[in-house]
Amino acid sequence: MSPGLGGAQKNGLGGAQKNTGSSLRPPLTIVISGPGGVGKSTIADLLVSRDPQLWLSRSWTTRAQREGESDRAYVFVSPEQFQDRIDASGFLEWTEFLGNLYGTPMPAPVAGSDVVLEIEVDGAQQVKKLQDDAILIFVLPPTRTEQERRLRERGDREEKVHARLHKAETEEPIGLQLADHVVVNDSLDETIDEMLRIIDRARSGDRD
Ligand code: 5GP
Repeated sequence: MSPGLGGAQKNGLGGAQKNTGSSLRPPLTIVISGPGGVGKSTIADLLVSRDPQLWLSRSWTTRAQREGESDRAYVFVSPEQFQDRIDASGFLEWTEFLGNLYGTPMPAPVAGSDVVLEIEVDGAQQVKKLQDDAILIFVLPPTRTEQERRLRERGDREEKVHARLHKAETEEPIGLQLADHVVVNDSLDETIDEMLRIIDRARSGDRD
């Protein structure tokens, strides 16, 4: 099975509702990507809690739920359920990552919201191909040692920690090349402030 763009249309959110009413501009798509253990999901959760205009997509995965992981972290599905959704063109993008499938359902944000996707690099590349105005914020760990510590802290088994660190070596150069913005997640507070500033600037039409 090879990753794909589902039935998404280029330069559009596919099934997304059009932004009407409170805002005249089309919704932004903000892609948060970066290697495993960099803190992407914590960052995405904090961003949406700080900015009510952000709408966080909930991905599907065939990965088993981690111990202590929230039921809301993903829609946890079987490979058959995932395949059915691929066949129905139900994903904006999907990929295989270290033996499991992950996919973004066609976004259907609340009107007036901007869409946040928290995905790995292959998915980020797919979204950029579909929507060249999507804003890719690539997050880096301060050091490889710190990344390793964070991966262990969330309870990944030793071989998983190594696989994710190894994968990071190939993901980073691609992500850095593709990124509109690069943020080093050293202090979480500063990372969130910096990302909110990037999003605010993008809302006013400034992408730099
Ligand atoms: P984890 O197993 O650590 O939750 O996720 C593994 C990787 O898959 C992470 O880099 C995460 O950002 C990414 N991921 C989560 N959801 C999606 C998705 O819908 N699409 C893609 N392409 N990657 C995803």
